[in-house]
Amino acid sequence: MVEIQNLSKRFGRFEVLKEINANFKSGKITAIAGPNGSGKTTLIKIILGLVKADSGKVYVFGEPINGVCSYRQKIGYMPQIANYPENLTISDIIKLIKELRNVRGNIEEKFIREFNLENDLNKPIRTLSGGTRQKVGAVLSLMFDPSVLIFDEPTVGMDPVVSSRFKEIMLEEKQKGKVIIITSHVMSEIEELADEILFLLNGKVYFSGLISELLNAQNETKLERAVAKILENQTILDV
Ligand code: ADP
Repeated sequence: MVEIQNLSKRFGRFEVLKEINANFKSGKITAIAGPNGSGKTTLIKIILGLVKADSGKVYVFGEPINGVCSYRQKIGYMPQIANYPENLTISDIIKLIKELRNVRGNIEEKFIREFNLENDLNKPIRTLSGGTRQKVGAVLSLMFDPSVLIFDEPTVGMDPVVSSRFKEIMLEEKQKGKVIIITSHVMSEIEELADEILFLLNGKVYFSGLISELLNAQNETKLERAVAKILENQTILDV
């Protein structure tokens, strides 16, 4: 479980996250949603230890993350835009990460097959399409069998065959009891994959819980409509 308690973060005078509380549970997929600029990426970066919160706490399986980095061994992260050394081949990068992470065995082979990357392994990263880079990011996040998986806009740029296989993999990883956190702009994808949703608005948690509860609260059957309604009401309140 990943637990966030009273987390706040400002950039200069701008308060991006205000007293955020959240629980990301084992064996569940939780989507972080919210309009652009609502702090989703900042929250993920804080969990990863890439950005420091001003106040509040993050616990990964009960351990506070402050000042230690060993917990990051437990987290597999697939960034939205991955920056890998452009001249290295996919094989080189996999080898490098395996060495850095001290990964034993050949678990990556399964994911290379599943993402159909066998024929691309010796190609330098600079020659790869956006979708293939995404697949490399997915393999790298999954291949050391981490207990927590964070996927930032995972299916952007993937063709329908790959993205549907990727969704199956996410569900398989969930069945193994992992904590899975995703962000997505595609509400139907969140509906399809996620058990729970953390909806951020203006730096605060607007809603945290089951997607069905959010739908009920908005009296809607589709998440896209429910979210549109929340944002429309917000605009009216802002005026
Ligand atoms: P989201 O992922 O929901 O689109 P972000 O977490 O990327 O939101 O950004 C939230 C807000 O914080 C944005 O207004 C963004 O411009 C600002 N922000 C993010 N990172 C920084 C930074 N390093 N310095 C200053 N402002 C930042």
